[in-house]
Amino acid sequence: MPASFGEMWAELLPVGRHAGSGGYRRYAWTGADAECRDWFREQAAARGLAYEVDRNGNQWAWLGDPAAGDAVVTGSHLDSVPDGGAFDGPLGVVSAFAALDGLRARGARPTRPVAVVNFGDEEGARFGVACVGSRLATGRLTPEQAAGLRDADGVSLPQAMERAGYDPAAIGPDDERLARVGVFVELHVEQGRHLGDTASPVGVASAIWPHGRWRFDFRGEANHAGTTRMEHRRDPMPAYAATVLAAREHAASAGALATFGKLSVAPNGVNAVPSLVRAWLDARAADEPTLGRVVGAIERSAREHAAREGGEVELVRESFTPVVDFAPALRDELVRLLAARQPYEVPVLPTGAGHDAGILAAKVPAAMLFVRNPTGVSHSPAEHAREDDCVAGVEALTDVLAGLACR
Ligand SMILES: [Zn+2]
Repeated sequence: MPASFGEMWAELLPVGRHAGSGGYRRYAWTGADAECRDWFREQAAARGLAYEVDRNGNQWAWLGDPAAGDAVVTGSHLDSVPDGGAFDGPLGVVSAFAALDGLRARGARPTRPVAVVNFGDEEGARFGVACVGSRLATGRLTPEQAAGLRDADGVSLPQAMERAGYDPAAIGPDDERLARVGVFVELHVEQGRHLGDTASPVGVASAIWPHGRWRFDFRGEANHAGTTRMEHRRDPMPAYAATVLAAREHAASAGALATFGKLSVAPNGVNAVPSLVRAWLDARAADEPTLGRVVGAIERSAREHAAREGGEVELVRESFTPVVDFAPALRDELVRLLAARQPYEVPVLPTGAGHDAGILAAKVPAAMLFVRNPTGVSHSPAEHAREDDCVAGVEALTDVLAGLACR
């Protein structure tokens, strides 16, 4: 008897959990990650599924012949952001195994192969690039780029993979494996509270907003906090502070999102006027022109405020992910399959968060199911989904697998 949803959940719950914060620190290729991977392999074995690890370290568990092609694939990731919640990622993997069990319990006979996948290093918490496993597979990240990634201790991605027992020489595009995938459906806890305000425990994704990261270097002149008169200062901190406020205005008026969540200050002394304030902007919007306008407006504000303080600012775009529109036919089919069996409305909603499904969408028809998150909080130990909503998510995913794989 394979483990139930509740048993699987309980097994994963303590892995990588930090006693102080209560959050998860499951970073790629660390001990906590290895424990999660061992768990995945055990779940595959307990169900008699064919287990494999692909060249990029993603784990697969197959019901049916992997080589037959046109597979229905579901899953998510098991790694976490620093002090992340229990649901982001694992809910999709645990629900995938539970849905497979649900399929068997219904006596459904798949006519297509069905697979569960765990994509490696989705959050990018260790090496700074998100969705490494799926980006490598689809060619969005080259092996050369991956080789240049380092963690905070200077360990490179290939070194980390090797230390975890994987062959970093093998990483790269995996067209052969992707060619086996007919569709990919990722179930994920909602990151936001769209469903929280509805009577629906499960929704279907329409699109992933375009998003990017920009580094702002506000430069001024370091000086003594006790002897430098206010009018003699070239202080980059007020310019930065005014830019944060401007970013909030620009984003709010465009219905977009702008966040300065990371900052480094030099020399970083309590009694020193700073010489440099380096700040990172994360910006997202429903479409690329809107995003471009918002970031442009924030940049203009930054330049004005920097000049006013006698300093200057430089901008570097560190990453950019274009809009992802999930395959409309697959999305509509998911809505139809759920509406046929479930008593609730099936909302179709966009998200500002990146996912492996968004990366895979460039190569295979991809779709997402979101499970209601009553507070909308994510990437935090407070991230939550109710137990009955998780059960509804498994039911919905089972409906989807039955509808797609058993006809
Ligand atoms: Zn996630």
